[in-house]
Amino acid sequence: MPFSKLGLAKELQETLAKQNYSNPFPIQKASIPAILEGKDILGIAQTGSGKTASFVLPILQLFQGQKESKNRHLKALVLVPTRELAIQVNDVFQLFSSNLPTKLKSKAVYGGVSINPQMIALQGVEIVVATPGRLLELISSKALSLSELQILVLDEADKMLNLGFQEEVNKILALLPVKRQNLLFSATLSADLESINKNLLKNPVVIKVEEEEKNLDLIRQFAYLISEEKKGPLLRYIIKNESIEQVLVFVSSVHRADAVVEKLTKNGIEAFAMHSKKGQEARIRALNAFKAGKIRVLVATDIIARGIDIKFLPYVINYELPRSPKDFIHRIGRTGRAEEPGEAISLISPEDMHHFKVIEKKMGKIATLIDGNAIDLKGF
Ligand code: AMP
Repeated sequence: MPFSKLGLAKELQETLAKQNYSNPFPIQKASIPAILEGKDILGIAQTGSGKTASFVLPILQLFQGQKESKNRHLKALVLVPTRELAIQVNDVFQLFSSNLPTKLKSKAVYGGVSINPQMIALQGVEIVVATPGRLLELISSKALSLSELQILVLDEADKMLNLGFQEEVNKILALLPVKRQNLLFSATLSADLESINKNLLKNPVVIKVEEEEKNLDLIRQFAYLISEEKKGPLLRYIIKNESIEQVLVFVSSVHRADAVVEKLTKNGIEAFAMHSKKGQEARIRALNAFKAGKIRVLVATDIIARGIDIKFLPYVINYELPRSPKDFIHRIGRTGRAEEPGEAISLISPEDMHHFKVIEKKMGKIATLIDGNAIDLKGF
C-alpha cells in the first residue's frame, strides 16, 4: 500500500518521495489513519520501526488550516527520555513541515544546557519535543503553557519510566486539558506502563510491531578471538585493513572509551568518545558530526545503543561485550537498519567466550569465528 492511500496531504507525500520513503512501514500503515481520525494509540514498537514518522506526519496534517495558537501555547507535546532523541524527533518535524501551507514551528528542549536560550527560542512555537524535567522548568518560568494542548505523545515510555521520570510525567499530565488525543509508544509493556495506559488512553487503537530482532538477518556477524591486551592493535588493524570509512565502536566504560580514542588518535585514526561524562553540547556535536559522516570512528558506551538512528552505518564493533544479550542486539542493530546490510564485529577474549556463547544462543545467530591471535599485528 503506498503512502497516497493513507490520507496524507500532497505536500507530505512530496517530502516522503524526496526522502525515498516509498512505502509505509507497518506501524505507519496502522497508526497514520487512526491518528488522523482522532483516536488514541498504544504503539508497541522500537526505534527503527519507523514510529517517529508514524506520529509526526498525522500530527502535522491535523494542524493544517488551524489558526496559530496564542504565543507559547503548545498544540502538541512529545515527551522523550533523552536529549538525543528529542533532537532526532524534532528534526523529523522540521523536515516534514518545511513545505506545508500551515507552517508549524517546533523545537526540542532538554536539560544539561542553559535554559535561557531555550526560553527565548520558544517564542511562537506550537510543537515541542521535550525531556520531562526541562519541560517542567520551562512551564514554571512561564516560557510555555500546556493549557491548549491538543495532542500528547509519550515516546519510548518504558525507558522514561526506567529512568525515573514517572513523577515528572505525572506532574505534566496534571497540567493538560482533559480533552486531548494521546499517543503512547513503548518497546515493551510493563506493569507500571499498564497503569499509565489505563489512566491516559481512551479506547486506544493497539498496534504491535515485531521486535528489532528481525533486522538481524541483514547483519553479517564476525567474532575475533583475541587476548585482552591485543584488542587495541586488532581494532586498528581491522579499521585500516578493511578500509572502514565509518564505524561505531562500543565499550563498557567511560574510562575505556577515552582510552580507546586516545590510542586511535595516536595512531592516526580520527576518533571521538561519546559517554555520560561528556558535556551535553559535546555529545550533540559529536553525534551530529558522526551522522553527517564527518567523524570516522565514534567510541561509545551503551548510552547510544538504543534509540539513535544513524542512516547507512555499515559497521559496528564490540570492543567489549555488554552484560545483557538484549543490549548486544540493540548495539548491533545500529547497523543493518532501514533494510541496508551491515557488519557487526565482536572482539572476544578467552574470558568473554562463555558469555558470548550465551549471547549467540539468545539471539539465535552464530557469528563467524576468526582467530585474531593468528593475525600479524606488528606495527598496529
Ligand atoms: P524511527 O523508528 O522512527 O527512528 O525510523 C527508523 C529509520 O527508518 C529512519 O532512518 C527513518 O528515516 C526511516 N524510515 C521511516 N519510515 C520509512 C519508510 N516508510 N520508508 C523508508 N524509510 C523509512
